[in-house]
Amino acid sequence: MSDVVSMTELIERKRDGGTLTREELAGIVAGYTAGDIPDYQMSAFLMAVLFRGMAPAELAAWTEAMLHSGDVLDCSGIPAPKVDKHSTGGVGDKVSIPLAPIVASCGIALPMVSGRGLGHTGGTLDKLESIPGFRTALTPAEFLAQLAEVGVVLAGQSERLVPADRAIYALRDASGTVPSIPLIASSIMAKKLAEDLDGLVLDVKVGSGAFMRDTASARRLARTMVELGAARGTRVVALLTDMDQPLGAEVGNANEIAESLAVLRGGGPPDLVALVLRLGEEMLLLGGVAADREEARDRIEETIGSGRALATFRRVVAAQGGDPAVVDDPALLPLATGIHHVTSRRAGFVHRCDAATVGRAAVRLGAGRERKEDRVDPGVGITVHAKRGDRVASGDLLATVRFSDPDRLEACRALLEEAWVVDVDPPRPRPLFLGEVR
Ligand code: URA
Repeated sequence: MSDVVSMTELIERKRDGGTLTREELAGIVAGYTAGDIPDYQMSAFLMAVLFRGMAPAELAAWTEAMLHSGDVLDCSGIPAPKVDKHSTGGVGDKVSIPLAPIVASCGIALPMVSGRGLGHTGGTLDKLESIPGFRTALTPAEFLAQLAEVGVVLAGQSERLVPADRAIYALRDASGTVPSIPLIASSIMAKKLAEDLDGLVLDVKVGSGAFMRDTASARRLARTMVELGAARGTRVVALLTDMDQPLGAEVGNANEIAESLAVLRGGGPPDLVALVLRLGEEMLLLGGVAADREEARDRIEETIGSGRALATFRRVVAAQGGDPAVVDDPALLPLATGIHHVTSRRAGFVHRCDAATVGRAAVRLGAGRERKEDRVDPGVGITVHAKRGDRVASGDLLATVRFSDPDRLEACRALLEEAWVVDVDPPRPRPLFLGEVR
């Protein structure tokens, strides 16, 4: 795809609602990954896909091209069942960080390829890199060696692993082309299918802080990914879960690692813990290491209670070059020194703690990227003190903000003021689990 004129023609065809052939789509993926297609043309093409969608055959071809843009792992030498989990992205969604070592401690091998922050949502890789020294770019050889040795790898796309997703993901983030079912499904499934998995559990987020705002579109996204997996012989289970408010209390990077460590120690906020347990059960069942849900739950609770899950995480951190002392002393994590409090202007019940608004505020603080080349500030973040249904008095603390740059705090203050809605009567409860697709 080095011919600029023909890329223009392909953009126009997609823009006008036409379909592209397998070869044309493969040419675009390869051309962009190689640097032959400029960002402006690729952005235009992605925007055309966002508006026009992809036919099933186009989606299969696009995903296949992304998957084969680099090396595909061969995990056949690992005897344990290989099961992974991926989230479509949310605010405060640090689930993978405690979940991976928990499930690995139960006898599942987890070759996890994660993403960075996208739009207003955080990314597992950015969170992990707040641990001093932690490396997320591993070669396939390093990846497989660690999987055999520790049973879990928490890495990112690289020049070798799904490089097309690395490039396209960053461009989508900067070009407003994230919330597209084919683009999300192909991005996630290319990474996951490159891992040579036996099973995959997907956490499809629904709500203001998710890319899918309503249950119907989240279900369509879930179905699309389950079918992409089935077509390649990978069993996929998708849970639809709430993302109308942030998950847990911490939104940022280092502070989300600290909250993940609390879960690994048997604590942590109830919504985060419930999600970790439920996704973990599904993974153990898919991997065949538990006969039923009850046995899966018992095994998970045992690995947390005995400290084995925490010990596995310590080994992951050490294996990937991070400072393992952080695992026992989260105070070693970076922490911005500026503190700002958000308080309630009235008494009543919290009706909204809007995930998208809190997520956007976190990005403005520096916890995410506004432009592709921005650097994440690992120590800034927001601690949420009041969520939907909580009773607050006037003047009560709704959030604590940690900032390093007063101008950035100023840029997000108005957002933080509008993120919470407090009213006199209690709101209707909204469940955390909203459905599933198998
Ligand atoms: N997570 C991904 O890996 N890709 C997306 O496009 C969205 C969420």
